[in-house]
Amino acid sequence: MIKYNLICNKCELSFDSWFASSKEYDKLKKKKLINCHGCGSLNVEKNLMAPKLISKKFEHKNEKKDLIKYKKIKKTINEYQKFIKKNFDYVGENFAYEARSIHYNNKKINKGIYGTASTQDLKELKEEGINAQTIPWFKKENN
Ligand SMILES: [Zn+2]
Repeated sequence: MIKYNLICNKCELSFDSWFASSKEYDKLKKKKLINCHGCGSLNVEKNLMAPKLISKKFEHKNEKKDLIKYKKIKKTINEYQKFIKKNFDYVGENFAYEARSIHYNNKKINKGIYGTASTQDLKELKEEGINAQTIPWFKKENN
C-alpha cells in the first residue's frame, strides 16, 4: 500500500489517499477514477510540492489580479476626479453648508459642488431631500 497526498486543481483541497501501488494510482488516474473528495473534480494530481509553496503561488496570482483590478479602478476614478474638478466647485468641509444654501436659498451657481461630508451630514441632507452622491476618492493625487 502506498499513501499519496493528492491535490485538487479546482478547489485546492488536498487529501490523502491509499493505493495498492504507484502503478495502481497511474491506472486509476488514466481511467479517471480518482476524483476530489471535496468537489468531485477529476482534475486531481499528486501533491509533489509542499502545500505552502502552492498556496504562495496562488496568493501571488491573486495579488497580481487585484493589482490590475485596482489600477483599472484607480484610472476610472482619476478620470472621474478630473471631470469633477473641472466642472464642480470644491467647497471642502463646507459641503453640507453649501449644499443647504443651494437647496434652501436658491443660491445661484454655475457649477455643481463637491467636497467632504461626514456620513451623518449625508444622512441629514438626505432627510432634507438634498441629494448628494458619494464617490470613491483618492486623496493624494496630482491636480
Ligand atoms: Zn476539488
